[in-house]
Amino acid sequence: MYLDNSATTQVSEEVFNEMKPYFTEEFGNPSTLYKIGRESKKALDLARKRVADAINAKPEEIIFTSGGSESDNLAIKGIAFKLAKKGKHIITTNIEHPAVKNTLGFLESLDFKVTYLPVNENGVIEIDDLKEAITDETILISVMHANNEIGTIQPIEEIGKIARENGIKFHVDAVQSFGKIDVDVEKLNIDLLALSSHKINGPKGVGALYIKKGTRVVPLIHGGGQEKGIRGGTENVPGIVGFGKACELASQQLEEHHEKLSSIRDELIEKVLSTIPEAHLNGGSENRLPNLVNFRFKAIEGESLILLLDAKGYQASTGSACSSNTLEASPVLTALGLDPVDVHGSLRISLAPESDKFDVDEFVNVIAESVSRLREMSPLWNQDLDYDNVMCKKHNDECRMC
Ligand SMILES: *Cc1c(COP(=O)(O)O)cnc(C)c1O
Repeated sequence: MYLDNSATTQVSEEVFNEMKPYFTEEFGNPSTLYKIGRESKKALDLARKRVADAINAKPEEIIFTSGGSESDNLAIKGIAFKLAKKGKHIITTNIEHPAVKNTLGFLESLDFKVTYLPVNENGVIEIDDLKEAITDETILISVMHANNEIGTIQPIEEIGKIARENGIKFHVDAVQSFGKIDVDVEKLNIDLLALSSHKINGPKGVGALYIKKGTRVVPLIHGGGQEKGIRGGTENVPGIVGFGKACELASQQLEEHHEKLSSIRDELIEKVLSTIPEAHLNGGSENRLPNLVNFRFKAIEGESLILLLDAKGYQASTGSACSSNTLEASPVLTALGLDPVDVHGSLRISLAPESDKFDVDEFVNVIAESVSRLREMSPLWNQDLDYDNVMCKKHNDECRMC
């Protein structure tokens, strides 16, 4: 059972079928004038329209890229370089994906100033903090729509309104929210929005950046003038075709999937919290993605739990795929104000619509067994302790707290 759909997803059969001809007979370069080239151009146009429709944008506002990371880079560096003369201050949050965080870190090395807004225990920023952070020098606000580790959703519409009132460009990384909840660039007051194909059952290595009409960015890849000169290089036609199809399907199925996924999610939360002692949900229970939950279990190592679950046929992760091979405590969970020791006992489960085939009871039993096995070996675990209040319930000679 694959439960790591926030890391990547399987290409759906309909998407794959749509892509196939563009690997073989439809191999034309979309920039050429003869028929086979024009066919590729037509396919690009259709994909562009499908992506645009999915976020309530116009086709000419969509630039195809190699994925979410490139889109974030293009948005942030593209605006920073364009507007550097106006100001060098950027506002973001302290739970951004590395594609945003490390891009901003790079800009700091070029003398840009970055304000990292904290999140509250629910994983959401405070609007007042944002208002206070704005200066005359602020050129860009970059806030992710939904977080890839804990699934919490930011108040994007409100942030967008504040950005607009202050004449500041607003970039949103919508890689995790797109296809799961409604993403409407007009309603949310967004200027730039990053999307990735492989998180929505499309192929890897393709994505898009929405750039609102009238917003100018400096290109990062100079070349033959493709994508209106904003992103040079012959387009990844099969990938873009697949991405377009994936967008169309995701929009058509949005409501149905939302309902299905959130009901499995809620059942999972309810059962994990009620059957496993000292289990907690990371991030608030309100305002979260329908397909993602993140728990923490006292006194265990998340990595060991992942391996036990894998042995039982369940693939989940501790945090984001990008940080799971390092031993560093997750910056996202740390930003929630959690103790680093507790952060290490985390488990991220991200569902796909097919996940309704799996038995939540059985899965929760497997987690419960695995957690209790690990706790038996854990020097940190003592079931007589009330961990939330860090005091002993028994107060006898065996109590380690007394
Ligand atoms: C996966 C992800 C990205 C990166 O997208 P790629 O297409 O893998 O480069 C960026 N932001 C978020 C929130 C993501 O989850």
